[in-house]
Amino acid sequence: MGFGYVLLTLVISIAVFLLFRNITLWYFKINRIIELLEQQNKFLSSMVDGGIRGSSSSGSGSYVRKLMKTCKSCKKEVDGSYTACPHCGSNSWE
Ligand SMILES: [Zn+2]
Repeated sequence: MGFGYVLLTLVISIAVFLLFRNITLWYFKINRIIELLEQQNKFLSSMVDGGIRGSSSSGSGSYVRKLMKTCKSCKKEVDGSYTACPHCGSNSWE
């Protein structure tokens, strides 16, 4: 009887240990997943913020650079950022 009791206690304690181990693993896994998702969320939002700022500044820059205007007096195409034609000095554009 003594041996049977010890064996039963051992089996029960192992079962309880495994059960608690599974519960802890499950619980901490969820915690870890939430933690990782929050990190990913922060990273993504910072990436999106930086991306929008970066593309808007560089995008508008390249857009301005692409805007060309034609001088009315010498008919040469010059960069849109010029206020006066760099070829003839005229400030009237077509
Ligand atoms: Zn000109």
